[in-house]
Amino acid sequence: MVLEIVKYGSPVLRAKGLEIADVDARVRKLADDMIETMRDAHGVGLAAQQVGVPIQLTVIDVSGVEDRPSEMIMEGKTVVLSAFMPLVLLNPVLELSKETEEGTEGCLSFPEISGEILRASHVKVKAKKLDGTEVEFEAKGLLARAVQHEVDHLNGILFIDRMNSATRTSLAGKLKRLQKSTRE
Ligand code: ZN
Repeated sequence: MVLEIVKYGSPVLRAKGLEIADVDARVRKLADDMIETMRDAHGVGLAAQQVGVPIQLTVIDVSGVEDRPSEMIMEGKTVVLSAFMPLVLLNPVLELSKETEEGTEGCLSFPEISGEILRASHVKVKAKKLDGTEVEFEAKGLLARAVQHEVDHLNGILFIDRMNSATRTSLAGKLKRLQKSTRE
């Protein structure tokens, strides 16, 4: 089922997600619906907050993006990305590299808004999977960026918070209009 995506201005986007203790049918159904919603919207990631549910759950699929490469490493080896997408991550915890890089980001909760964001260039991810087991991997490229963007959502942090002040100033009018239309 395709769910409605919550837009900027809705308070749920600022809520920290509750940790998921038990992976029950409700969580599995939500994850399925979030994957469907992300695909319908042509996004590469979606956090539970963006469908109005503040819990530690995110879905990611960067396998369809050809012009921005990703790398996924498990147990020291680069794996075939498509075999692991879509990723469903519960209670994810990140370890960020010191090296950073800039890259363009958009967000399904901010239609027609994008900006350059500085992120760690690679990350180590620990999370729970839908089957209740733990997964660990390293990510580089677009996948590293997507994971950081989504884990921010799970903590109530939005990509505009990480834009430099010049970018944010240039987007101020658009952001105000979006916030206003969401609240109406
Ligand atoms: Zn987003």
